[in-house]
Amino acid sequence: EVKVANLSKRFGDNAVLRDITFTIADGEFFTLLGPSGCGKSTTLACIAGLERPTGGTVAVGDTTFAGAGTFVPPEGRNLGMVFQSYALWPHMTVAQNLAMPLKIRKVDRREQDTLITEALAKVGLAEYRDRYPHQLSGGQQQRVALARALVYSPSVLLLDEPLSNLDAKLRDQARAWLKRLQTELGITTVYVTHDQDEALALSDRIAVMSKGDMVQIGTPQEIYETPATAEVAAFVGRCN
Ligand code: ATP
Ligand code: MG
Repeated sequence: EVKVANLSKRFGDNAVLRDITFTIADGEFFTLLGPSGCGKSTTLACIAGLERPTGGTVAVGDTTFAGAGTFVPPEGRNLGMVFQSYALWPHMTVAQNLAMPLKIRKVDRREQDTLITEALAKVGLAEYRDRYPHQLSGGQQQRVALARALVYSPSVLLLDEPLSNLDAKLRDQARAWLKRLQTELGITTVYVTHDQDEALALSDRIAVMSKGDMVQIGTPQEIYETPATAEVAAFVGRCN
């Protein structure tokens, strides 16, 4: 369970998040949706510990990560992250890329090898461990980035527009594949996108944000059929 309560964030005088509250159930695919600049990535960064909230709390399970005088740094949170650019280290093989987070966590060599093999199998790239990133397609690189986020068995997966570097055709495939993987692994996922179609297709629930405010939280059907505001209606309906 991921619990964000009354989260606020200011950069100087600029209030970019105001009173953001939501709870994500175990195994849920939860999407933060909204236009550019509304605060999606900042919300994710507060969950990850890459930003310190100005107010409010962030907790996973029984552990408070931020709030009430507490701040757990990112490496203490056991969360998997994939960002928009999903940058792999170009001079390292696939296996070496996956080994990095394990080395940081001081996992021993033999255990590393087992975990890397398992993570690559999960994303269907067992045969690619000795390739370099430039020898992979964009879709395959994206899957390696996901494997790297999964390799240390995080409790929650944070994905910030992970498909945005892919062309339309690859993105459709990756979308279907990502949803299947998440269902199989049963891992709680916080997904960020500004793409309404993507949110509607992938999510168990969607949280629509606007200029730092949480406007509506609901299932794709609820958001689509009974938008809370004219703005949500316009934004979610735009593609249709
Ligand atoms: P996009 O869809 O374009 O990625 P977003 O919803 O992820 O947008 P954020 O990146 O969370 O938006 O940014 C929200 C607001 O906070 C923006 O106005 C941005 O300029 C501002 N902001 C984000 N990070 C910082 C920072 N480190 N310092 C100052 N302002 C910031
Ligand atoms: Mg963003």
